[in-house]
Amino acid sequence: MQKGTIGVTTENIFPVIKKFLYSDHEIFLRELVSNAIDATQKLKTLSSFGEYKGELGDMNVRVTVDKEAGTLTVSDHGIGMTAEDIEKYINQIAFSGAEEFLKKYKDTANAIIGHFGLGFYSAFMVAKKVVIRSLSYKEGSKAVQWECDGSPEFSMEEIEKAERGTDIILYIDDDNKNYLEQSEIDALLKKYCRFLPVPVISGKEQEWKDGKYVDTDRDRVINSTEPLWLKKPADLTDEDYLKFYHDLYPGQDDPLFWIHLNVDYPFTLTGILYFPKIKNNIEVTKNRIQLYCNQVYVTDSVEGVVPEFMMLLQGVIDSPDIPLNVSRSYLQSDSAVKKISGYITKKVASRLEEIFKNDRTDFEAKWDDIKIFIEYGMLTDQKFCDTAMKFVLLKDVDNKYFTLEEYRTLIEPQQTDKEGTVIYLYATDKTAQYNYIRSAQDRGYSVLLMDGQLDSHFIGLLEQKIEKSHFVRVDSDIIDNLIRKEDKKEADLTPLQRNILSTLFQSQIPAVDGANFIVSFEALNYQDNPVVITQNEYMRRMKEMAAMQPGMNFYGELPDSYNLIVNTEQPLVKRIKDAADEALAAKVLPMQNDIDAKNAEITKLRESKEESDKTKSLELEKEIGVIRDNMSKQISEYAATQPLVKQLIDLALLGNGLLKGAQLSDFIRRSVELL
Ligand code: ADP
Repeated sequence: MQKGTIGVTTENIFPVIKKFLYSDHEIFLRELVSNAIDATQKLKTLSSFGEYKGELGDMNVRVTVDKEAGTLTVSDHGIGMTAEDIEKYINQIAFSGAEEFLKKYKDTANAIIGHFGLGFYSAFMVAKKVVIRSLSYKEGSKAVQWECDGSPEFSMEEIEKAERGTDIILYIDDDNKNYLEQSEIDALLKKYCRFLPVPVISGKEQEWKDGKYVDTDRDRVINSTEPLWLKKPADLTDEDYLKFYHDLYPGQDDPLFWIHLNVDYPFTLTGILYFPKIKNNIEVTKNRIQLYCNQVYVTDSVEGVVPEFMMLLQGVIDSPDIPLNVSRSYLQSDSAVKKISGYITKKVASRLEEIFKNDRTDFEAKWDDIKIFIEYGMLTDQKFCDTAMKFVLLKDVDNKYFTLEEYRTLIEPQQTDKEGTVIYLYATDKTAQYNYIRSAQDRGYSVLLMDGQLDSHFIGLLEQKIEKSHFVRVDSDIIDNLIRKEDKKEADLTPLQRNILSTLFQSQIPAVDGANFIVSFEALNYQDNPVVITQNEYMRRMKEMAAMQPGMNFYGELPDSYNLIVNTEQPLVKRIKDAADEALAAKVLPMQNDIDAKNAEITKLRESKEESDKTKSLELEKEIGVIRDNMSKQISEYAATQPLVKQLIDLALLGNGLLKGAQLSDFIRRSVELL
C-alpha cells in the first residue's frame, strides 16, 4: 500500500472548501455526477476515434444511497483512472486533467465538462471519508483504491474490480445525514442533473400498489439526455416548445413566444428564452432563467449574463463560456460575458422584429402583454432601443396599433403646431378623460392610450428619440392650446372686468382634497365649453415620476395643480360677465379707482428717502388691502346669488371626476332648481 500527502496547495484545502462553500454544500453532487459524465463522454470520444477498441457496454451513471452503510456512491463506466492518473489528477489538485484532454481533442470535445474547477474535492463538504475505486480503460490496467479522510494524507492500494470505470464512495458525515435520504438526492438530481447528456440512474421506478407507492425493480432514469435546446429549431413544433416550457415551470400560462438561441462563434451558447405572460411579480422572481453549462444546471441567478431587462424572460441558457465560479461583479465585467449579453440582446431584438414582420396580427394581439418588457428594454439598453424603434407599437384609444413611423405619418398633417413640432396627444384613462378625448377627436386629432406602468418614462424617451415631437396628455390644456396653430386670441376684458370675473369664479370653487385651482381666461371658440379644467403636463409628469422613484418627494408632496379656464367667448360666460358688470361696476369701480390712485402715490413715495414717507407708503398699502378685501367681499356676496357660476364650475369638475360627496348632491339639487 502506498501512503502519501496530497500535493501542491493542499495544506489548507479542506478547511477552505468547508468554509467557503458552506452555504452551497449541495453542489458536491453536481460536481461528482459531472465528473462521472465527463469520464463517460471521454470514453465515447476515444471510442469514436478508434483509440478505445473494447465494448462500451452499459454507460449509465448511477447514484446510490446506502443508508445503513452511511454511504452515497457515484459510479460510472467511463475511462477510469490508473494509479498514475490518480496521482496526477487527484493528488496534484492544481493540475486539471480536463484541460489537457481538451487540448488534445479540442474540436470534438465540446461536450466535456471540465469547467467547474472545484470538482472532486467538494465531496469533503459532506463526507468524513472519500474512497475512489477505479479501473482504467487502458489495456492491462490494475484497479486501484484511494482513500482519504479529509486530512492531507491519503492511502492508495491495488484492488480487485471487474468493471471498467470509477466508483466514488462518500462516507457522509454526521452533519449531512440528509444526503442519505433518497428523496433529498432525487431533489438535487432533479435540480442539477435533469438535462445531463448521459442517463443518470438513481433509485427505482415506483408504482402504486396496495394504497401506496412501492419500488419496482426497474431502474429510474432521472434525466432527459437530449434537452430541447440542443435540437434543431426546424425539427421542433410549437407543442414541443410549449411542453418544455411547462416542464420547466409547471402551472404557468402558455408563454407568448420564444426564441431559440444557437451560437458557436465567437463563443458557444444555446438556449431557449420564453416571453412569459406576466400576471404578478411573485412569478417573475420565482420562475427565472436557468443557466446551464454543458447541460449541467448551474444557477438561476443570471444577473450580468443576460441584460437586466431580460430578467423578465424565462427559459434556459447553456454555455461553457460563462465563468461560473466567480463573483457576480467579476462576471459583469468579464468581456466574454458582455459579448454574450450583447448577443442575447441582439437576438431577442431581431426575433421580435421578425415576428412583427411575419405576423403583425399575432404581434399586435400580444402587444399589451409584451409592451412592458419592450419598453423596459428600450429604456435601459441603447442597442435594443435602436432596433426596437422599428417595431415598438403605439396604441390609440380605439385600440388600433401603429409603428412610430406609421403614427408620425398619420398625425403629421393635422397635429403639427405653428412651431413645426408634431404633437402626440395621449390619454391615460379612457373613461376619466373621455371629454377631452372626444373634443380632440372632434378636431380630427388622434389620441394614444398610454396607460402602462412605464409609459410616463417611455414618453420621455420617445420625445428624445423622435425629432420635433412633443407628447401632451389630452387634458393638460384646452385642445387649441395643446396644438397651437395660430397666435392666441386674447380674452377681451378690461382689467376691472378681469378682476371681477376672477374673484367671481375663484370664490365659487369648492374645496377639493389635494387640489389647487388657478382661474384664467381664454377667448376660445364660442361653441366650446364655458369652463374647462386642465392639468399642467410638466407638473403632472413630475408627480408621476415621483410616485415611482424615491428621492423625488418634493414633487410628490405638492397638491395637484389644475387650471380652471373660463371661455370668455361662450354665451353663458358672456351673460355672467354682463350681469356682473351691471350689478357690480358701479360699486366696484370707485374702489378700483381708489386703489389705482393709492398705488400711484405709493410709487411716488418709494422714490423718496424720507423715513416718514416710508411709513406713509406702508399705511397706504394697508389701506389698499382693506379696500381689496372689501371688494372681494362684495363680489363674493354677489357670486353667491349667481347659481350659474357655481353650476358651470361644477359641470367642469364633474367632467374630471372631481365632484364628489356633498358637493355632488348640491350640484344635483341646484340643477333641478335651475331647470
Ligand atoms: P476538474 O473536473 O475540474 O478537472 P476535479 O477535481 O473534479 O476537477 O477532477 C480532477 C480530475 O480527476 C478530472 O479532470 C479527471 O481527470 C479526474 N476524475 C475525476 N473524477 C473522475 C471519474 N469519475 N472518472 C475518471 N476521472 C475522473
